[in-house]
Amino acid sequence: MLIMTVMLLAAWRMNPRIAGLKAWTLAFACGLPICLNLLWHDYAPEWLSVVFTQLSNFLLAWINLLACRRYLNLQRLPHSAGLSAMGMLLATGMYFTLIQPNQGLRFLILSTVLGILFLLSARTMARGGPGLYPARYLYALCCGGHGVFLLSRPWLFQVGRNGLFNSEQILVVSHLVVIEAIVALVLLGFCVVMLANEQVTLALKQMADRDPLTGAYNRRAFMSTLEKATLYASRLAFPVSVLLIDLDHFKRINDTWGHQRGDDALRHVVRVAQDCLREGDILGRMGGEEFAIVLPNATQQEAEHIANRLRQAIEAQPLQYAGAALSLTTSIGVAGWQPPEKPDSLLHRADEAMYQAKRLGRNCVVTAPQPASQLPMDDAAIAQCVLLTGR
Ligand code: GH3
Ligand code: MG
Ligand code: MG
Repeated sequence: MLIMTVMLLAAWRMNPRIAGLKAWTLAFACGLPICLNLLWHDYAPEWLSVVFTQLSNFLLAWINLLACRRYLNLQRLPHSAGLSAMGMLLATGMYFTLIQPNQGLRFLILSTVLGILFLLSARTMARGGPGLYPARYLYALCCGGHGVFLLSRPWLFQVGRNGLFNSEQILVVSHLVVIEAIVALVLLGFCVVMLANEQVTLALKQMADRDPLTGAYNRRAFMSTLEKATLYASRLAFPVSVLLIDLDHFKRINDTWGHQRGDDALRHVVRVAQDCLREGDILGRMGGEEFAIVLPNATQQEAEHIANRLRQAIEAQPLQYAGAALSLTTSIGVAGWQPPEKPDSLLHRADEAMYQAKRLGRNCVVTAPQPASQLPMDDAAIAQCVLLTGR
């Protein structure tokens, strides 16, 4: 227990921003008195040992549940709920120790409370899908397994007392209870480290793929998505289109309202655009005030329609600042992918179309003409097309 606590303490010190890690370290530290109690409970008065066991077991399970909720950014549980549950547990513990001694009932109540708390932690943690968050599900499995064992262990002793086990076998069950607790806590400790690792990996991926100002994909991640989209499209023969969006007279916004408002305007445009898009459409910031969108499974006509909807939405929703409305307009170039066109060329055509929209007076959508490769192809181009489309 000490080793697990020190390990989690080190993990928390190294990653203080990981939500829940501090609480998990505290939960494991609460397990230390349980171990000490195992060493000294023969020498201490029974009531003191009961208080120690119940307090530390309850705090471990309760703080573990709080840590799960914190990790997932869920609403905090009120402290009053924890304090009243702990008070009731202690009161019944004292009642069945000092007033009407009944070790079996005391054990049953403690096991039930702990079992429920661990099952609640397991249920809380199993979110997001096992494929995406495997450590969460591993943790939920360990927590759930421990919860079920806690709920069933009084029944194990009861079966023994009813004559199914002899005294030696009952001793084995006692040892099993201790060993299961040790194994469960060690596994949970490792799962917490895996959860921390999972969150660090996700944060790094986010940093590598996203533009820090707007949260849209950065150019590198966008290009890699576009490449994948054209590859799948060529294999499965579905359309892909690209929009290239440039904000009109953006320099004026910076000059009139300041760079800070300019940044707000960029974030605002991304928010409006995200609302107009379908799941699976990818929005990237190509640099400055220029954005691109991959529309998988959208023909050029559909993309044109989406581009017009987007242009109108941005125009209709000016950025509100200090009682004023900063109107924003965009020029959008649309290009539909034509196999075996390379992603760079597709983007280039959308870019050309966007510049054409600027020349036409801005705040409009222009669709790019067919790529040059659609004109009669030479033998090498035909071979590449066959390879990409599989036809
Ligand atoms: P148009 O595209 O309509 O021709 O005019 P424009 O004023 O938008 O032209 P241009 O592309 O030359 O200007 C882009 C401006 O965007 C220049 C730069 O100061 C500003 N900009 C680029 N990146 C950022 C950013 O991250 N934040 C802010 N606030 N401004 C940025
Ligand atoms: Mg511009
Ligand atoms: Mg520009």
